[in-house]
Amino acid sequence: MRSELLSDIDEHIFDVLIIGGGINGATSAACLQAHGYKVCLLEKGDFASGTSQESSNMVWGGIKYLESLEFKLVYGLCKSRDLLIEHYPTRIIPIPFYTSLYKHNKYLPFFAYLGSILYWMIALGRTEFPKYMSAKQIGHDFPIITQKKLRGGTTYLDAFLPENDARFTFQLIEKAIESGAYCINYMSVESFKYENETWEVKASDQINPKQFILKSKILINAAGPHLEEINSENKRPTDHKLILSKGIHLIVPQLTNSHHVLTFMSKDERLFFVLPMGNRSCIGTTDTPVKADTKEVTDEDRKFVLDNINQYLNLDKPLTRADIIAERCGVRTLCADTTSEKEDWIHLSRHHKVECFINSQQINIIGGKLTNCLNVGEEILDKVNQLLQRFPEFLIWYGEESDDIKESFLSFALEKVEARTAHLLWRRYGSKAIKIINLIEYDSRLKETVAENTDYLKAELLYIKQNEYVTKDEDLLRRRTHLSLTSTHEQMEKIKEFLLSL
Ligand SMILES: Cc1cc2nc3c(=O)[nH]c(=O)nc-3n(C[C@H](O)[C@H](O)[C@H](O)COP(=O)(O)OP(=O)(O)OC[C@H]3O[C@@H](n4cnc5c(N)ncnc54)[C@H](O)[C@@H]3O)c2cc1C
Repeated sequence: MRSELLSDIDEHIFDVLIIGGGINGATSAACLQAHGYKVCLLEKGDFASGTSQESSNMVWGGIKYLESLEFKLVYGLCKSRDLLIEHYPTRIIPIPFYTSLYKHNKYLPFFAYLGSILYWMIALGRTEFPKYMSAKQIGHDFPIITQKKLRGGTTYLDAFLPENDARFTFQLIEKAIESGAYCINYMSVESFKYENETWEVKASDQINPKQFILKSKILINAAGPHLEEINSENKRPTDHKLILSKGIHLIVPQLTNSHHVLTFMSKDERLFFVLPMGNRSCIGTTDTPVKADTKEVTDEDRKFVLDNINQYLNLDKPLTRADIIAERCGVRTLCADTTSEKEDWIHLSRHHKVECFINSQQINIIGGKLTNCLNVGEEILDKVNQLLQRFPEFLIWYGEESDDIKESFLSFALEKVEARTAHLLWRRYGSKAIKIINLIEYDSRLKETVAENTDYLKAELLYIKQNEYVTKDEDLLRRRTHLSLTSTHEQMEKIKEFLLSL
């Protein structure tokens, strides 16, 4: 499939060439291709192998940005969150967030409760009304939460991605490819220049070493933390000053059930979460200034997260490094005022910026949130329409398949697999899951799970390997599924053994 796309990629003049297959590149590709533009997207690693595989998986309005009075950002994020919930009813799940506040925290629970009402109002009351929680009630509902010095808290509704950020990003890429886009993973952009009103982009295939020269009318730089470096190497401008900030998460054995998120204030007074991830818990995050993109989790990072969690959870035994099943580490790209000398890391705006250079037909997409992906897609479409002088056309380019398709899939699937599996397959693959059921019909051994206590069938792994642009095992284990994040060493041995047999 990848090789098919590569076979004639250099014979086209694309309308738009996008550098970077993270959420910003993916949403732009899906939106532009759906509107009839001819799109090429190049990703130097696997799709979503940058920051877009390292988020907290929350689709949220960002209640914490009320603290820095960023009402416009919160309003936009809430709107985007609600649109995502409406159009991805199985892939994005509303979930209650329980915030517990202690004597040493700077906010009183009642103040936090008022904050969550303001948050609810900014979202135009589209979610359940927040609830005030007394310390006694928190103790009753969540005996795992430390009671000592607990004052109380608040609960409100946001949403999360049960199948992970990277899979969601991949699904936008997949949608773009299905509508005709050329999206290639493991294809690094080496250089680019604008001449005779055309971009000439030099790219190299990282799998079968070969250089390509690709042509396009517009260039979009969506290279996340690498955006500025690539622009400067090619003598192209970046108008904003970019600041990079590292955040890590640790995956540990399941601490609470998967139907809620627990929220605390960390030692640096940031929101700190216990999030569900499959049959595990994901805890974090941190916010540390860094000079360059990195995937390195330091001992200091681990200690910060473990100390925070042990302080707030009443566990039989405190969590230690030995309990860590996997780690996530990503770098946020934040925009600063170009004149500012010293930045307040925690309060730098999380709003994305789109820079558009009309004379050279170039667009930069900087930072932002995964939650804002639909807005980013629309904004980029707007800019491309302006640059190529086309009239806007209204089209819903996102979302899961229709209820009718879902019903007909489920009535077919429920005859072959258990109800839980049928629903899970729909959530992960939509109507393409029919192919997985056909695999099971052909060979019933593929109905088994790939390892004990995982919820992935062998047939799923075979399907993913054959159909989801997988080049390396890690693409499948870390991004198309969350197996490498949630499996123990023994489970991974079994899974790898199965992959070898394919
Ligand atoms: C710890 C943490 C928690 C977060 N939590 C949330 C959350 O809960 N909810 C939320 O909405 N947002 C969250 N975010 C923010 C969100 O993850 C990011 O805004 C988003 O992933 C950024 O996407 P991107 O496409 O800009 O960058 P990336 O995902 O980094 O994509 C850029 C891509 O460009 C590629 N690239 C670079 N150079 C080249 C080249 N030369 N050629 C080809 N490709 C290239 C890279 O390989 C990379 O894949 C979080 C971020 C962090 C770090």
